[in-house]
Amino acid sequence: MQGNDIRQKQKSHCSTKSVPVPEFIACIKCGNEIEIWTDEDETVCQSCGHKVFKKEATIH
Ligand SMILES: [Zn+2]
Repeated sequence: MQGNDIRQKQKSHCSTKSVPVPEFIACIKCGNEIEIWTDEDETVCQSCGHKVFKKEATIH
């Protein structure tokens, strides 16, 4: 048999770590859902203007 190309190599050093993705968290003050990116530590609620930190907010 020929053409049996087995490729199981994975490039582990090719990291996607630096690519941010959006998450939705709830504002701790008014409960509004806010979009925060994974490379951000804080964001401002568009509903009440409260500054929300990711570590103290609930991630849905
Ligand atoms: Zn709010």
